[in-house]
Amino acid sequence: MKAQYVWNKGQLDQIDPNQVDYLLGLFSYSHMDFEADRDPGATGDPSLADMTRSALSILLKNPKGFFLVVEGGRIDHAHHYNNAYRALDETLAMETALLAALALVNPTETLIVVTSDHSHVLTMGGQATPRGHPILGPDSKVSDVDGQPYTTLLYGNGPGYATPRIIPMNTTSAAEDRNQVHGSAVPRQWATHGGEDVPVYALGPLATTLFTGTFDQSYIPHAIAYSACLGEHRLRCQGLDNYTGAPLVPHSGNCAQQEITSVAHSGQPIVIASSVMSDDGLLRVKSSSDAVVLEMFELTVVVTIVGVIGAVIT
Ligand SMILES: [Zn+2]
Repeated sequence: MKAQYVWNKGQLDQIDPNQVDYLLGLFSYSHMDFEADRDPGATGDPSLADMTRSALSILLKNPKGFFLVVEGGRIDHAHHYNNAYRALDETLAMETALLAALALVNPTETLIVVTSDHSHVLTMGGQATPRGHPILGPDSKVSDVDGQPYTTLLYGNGPGYATPRIIPMNTTSAAEDRNQVHGSAVPRQWATHGGEDVPVYALGPLATTLFTGTFDQSYIPHAIAYSACLGEHRLRCQGLDNYTGAPLVPHSGNCAQQEITSVAHSGQPIVIASSVMSDDGLLRVKSSSDAVVLEMFELTVVVTIVGVIGAVIT
């Protein structure tokens, strides 16, 4: 058994998963840089996808399975700043991490849950924003009240409030694009979270029965605990009632005998990345316009990957 500690990308890249059983990576004194500001060199920070691959390369060695949480935690911070660019960019980093995970796990025995612990006060609106319209840019038409342009993405509250209101300008540099603050309706130094139910996307055992749809977020950890036989459901995979220890009575009548999975019959995973929505047939390039649906939500906790699932299919 061997443990290792790393603190930059170069060290993480050199880890041999066959030689390491426990790995601790601490890359920053506080929050790591936004992806847009990250130093990708050997002395800089690993990406979320880099960390996901490293974690899985070690966890996959465990014959008993594993539980991994990957959090795109800075989507949240960018929304708090009303900085839509970084919020969308962090969401794409999350998507890249998800694709990295999908390439490494077997979806017939590993449950992948993509979700969020809350939303944000972001809106996506406009009178003339046809498909392909820049998601970070202004509506094609100006306001019919003050005759001034406004951005497609706006916030309910936060530092983007100003009087007179923020008017989107033609930016002249990439840095200006990245740092653009979108308008908000109510002044706050730090935008609040939103309160609606969160979307849950899942693949693998129990995905379609427990996770597909929108839910109050407090439901999600209980469903994951049930799926992986953890905590209050720890005896379920042994066929025992968790509270009494008595053998579980099999379902009868009209109940389905086998739990449904969302894995295609061919055994291939159903691709759930936004790249499947690309209609130009090109490989996805990293742009800020891809994740139009997902960006309204913080999408933290985003890849919750649960192993151990072989015994869960009853
Ligand atoms: Zn927050």
